Amino acid sequence: MKKRIAVLPGDGIGKEVAKGAIEVLQAVGERFGHQFYFQYGMIGGEAIDTLGTPLPDETIELCKQSDAVLLGAVGGPKWEKKPAHLRSEQGLLRIRKELGLYANVRPTSYYPSLADASPLRKEVIEGVEMVMVRELSGGIYFGKPSERIQKNGEDGVVDTLYYQRAEIERVVRLAFELAVERKGKVTSIDKANVLESSRMWREVAEVISKDYPDVELEHMLVDNAAMQMIKNPKQFDVVVTENMFGDILSDEASVLTGSLGMLPSASLSERGPYLYEPIHGSAPDIKGKGSANPIAMILSAAMMLRQSFGMNEEADAIEQAVNQVLDAGYRTKDIMTFGKKLVTTDEMVGEIKATL
Ligand code: ATP
Ligand code: MG
Repeated sequence: MKKRIAVLPGDGIGKEVAKGAIEVLQAVGERFGHQFYFQYGMIGGEAIDTLGTPLPDETIELCKQSDAVLLGAVGGPKWEKKPAHLRSEQGLLRIRKELGLYANVRPTSYYPSLADASPLRKEVIEGVEMVMVRELSGGIYFGKPSERIQKNGEDGVVDTLYYQRAEIERVVRLAFELAVERKGKVTSIDKANVLESSRMWREVAEVISKDYPDVELEHMLVDNAAMQMIKNPKQFDVVVTENMFGDILSDEASVLTGSLGMLPSASLSERGPYLYEPIHGSAPDIKGKGSANPIAMILSAAMMLRQSFGMNEEADAIEQAVNQVLDAGYRTKDIMTFGKKLVTTDEMVGEIKATL
């Protein structure tokens, strides 16, 4: 097969891990006889510095004309305090809007060989297999107004949480679709005891669940969910929630398997192309040190092969290679424990390619 892949390496370790994922994809292409065409676009801080905008039009066009998009990470302290139109995260929010990405899907799986890298006891995390579906296009991160206001002569501030019913429906439906292929359970997370938006969310989840008689639907309040995620993560199969709750809970879920550096994600739209990125950020603290874990990015590439190109065997091959390399004891610094072999980003990529 021939596929066009837009690569947006971004900033910080985004560049370092994207390079690794491309090498792994090239190796897969050679082994299975596919031609992957990689075309590079700028986003985030690098784009601000060179072109004066966090998301140039060329990048948007490139993405729209590709079969899939691979994104490293964007941002860094250098761009955090700039005016809004020059902030690196604006690039990320806008590409999501431009591509109509409405759901971020984040699988979290237990790696037996990394059990000792998790702060949680093995009995608690053993066998965890969950996927978090986070609404990505609405909610409080996009609502207007979002500004400082004066009220009764006092300084104040407002952020707005807005959802259209249809936005809730499509993301909840996606969660049910995933559950059908998995263990058949959806946990919908909200704050329905306080928020009107959550009450509508619950209502919609109930309606959609009627189309999926074999899937069990459970509602859980977000505060309880934050606790359950640590106390008994095995109870979850598919978790679905709105934008901000999902942002927070998916970072929490990342701790279960040991490191942010292990977790991939897919962002889906109605028509495609889909975007794949590790859940971690640009990690300015370790930039340029060669210690970034490339596995989250490499597993994101595997998700791309499976989800966007239907290349299941190829995706399996990457996932198996990652498992074998971990089983053989190779570790980047973030997952290093006593007695294992410490390797750099490039060495980890090299081991995975060699195993492939
Ligand atoms: P963002 O706002 O972009 O989500 P963040 O503030 O959540 O970023 P990250 O950049 O994800 O932060 O980094 C959080 C911590 O995890 C940092 O200490 C970083 O070094 C570490 N980290 C993140 N990704 C990796 C990785 N791939 N390998 C090793 N360590 C990582
Ligand atoms: Mg973060």
